[in-house]
Amino acid sequence: MDLGLNGLSCVVTGGSSGVGLALVSLLLDEGACVATCARDRARLDTATASLTESAGERLLTYGCDVRSANESEQFMAAVVERFGGVDGLVNNAGQSRMKSFADTTWADWNDELDLKFAAVVKPLTAALAHLRRSAVGAVVNVNAVLARQPEPHLVATSAARAGVLNLSKNLATELAVDGIRVNSVCLGVIDSGQWRRRYDAVSPEESFETWSAAVAADRGVVLGRFGTPFEVAYVIVMLLSPRAPFVTGSSLDVGGGVGRYV
Ligand code: NDP
Repeated sequence: MDLGLNGLSCVVTGGSSGVGLALVSLLLDEGACVATCARDRARLDTATASLTESAGERLLTYGCDVRSANESEQFMAAVVERFGGVDGLVNNAGQSRMKSFADTTWADWNDELDLKFAAVVKPLTAALAHLRRSAVGAVVNVNAVLARQPEPHLVATSAARAGVLNLSKNLATELAVDGIRVNSVCLGVIDSGQWRRRYDAVSPEESFETWSAAVAADRGVVLGRFGTPFEVAYVIVMLLSPRAPFVTGSSLDVGGGVGRYV
């Protein structure tokens, strides 16, 4: 099926690793023009080097911290200069904070709430006028199952995720009049940069596969393993696609059945 993404301008924040990198690759395969950012521009360019070789001018990389309104504005201006507009925005950049309530300082709370909300609000604010001009404007916010199923060892991240899921619903309502759809994907445990770093930090005897299967079992992932970045990216591509024109305000779990709510 042709997903109708050919020639559309899609922005993916956090494209140097994991879900973002897989998504950039899939969108380019679909013929989209793709802009992506990360704080570490050199790492971003290294990660996307092979994609740039085949995509050429259809891939734009940019150094941008999504917590900064200025940098988000500059990033979006560069996207519009290169591609002429913005049709799709995926707010993917971020990381989680593994701390319980007793270990979370007020500074940690501020940092975590700032990152989670800024990662949606600042790129979206910068892209809004352009999305309004698009005939097929779509936003996907990358969230977590934690938004509905909080974990005590991720106390600030869980609370922030819940707030962003709530925000996404309001955005879908407010922006519907502009023809902009807003959806969320809620991730379980996905094999990506964050988890590879945790594995390296723990430095266990067993392989990543054995270690991650034990983590998945402990978390109650009914499929018994971590997901892959591409398994998330396929779902985001579907939500971005103009072939899903009646889907807005929804959230789709990509968690291997870890969510225990109905
Ligand atoms: P990775 O750690 O593999 O990649 C994160 C990307 O975001 C990198 O490109 C990183 O680049 C970028 N990034 C982080 N902070 C910023 C920032 N302030 N401004 C711009 N770019 C930033 O992440 P994953 O692929 O694992 O996760 C993708 C999203 O899904 C994240 O928001 C994550 O929190 C969320 N998620 C992931 C889960 C998982 O199990 N992997 C579970 C639930 C949610 P750089 O550091 O150079 O800025």
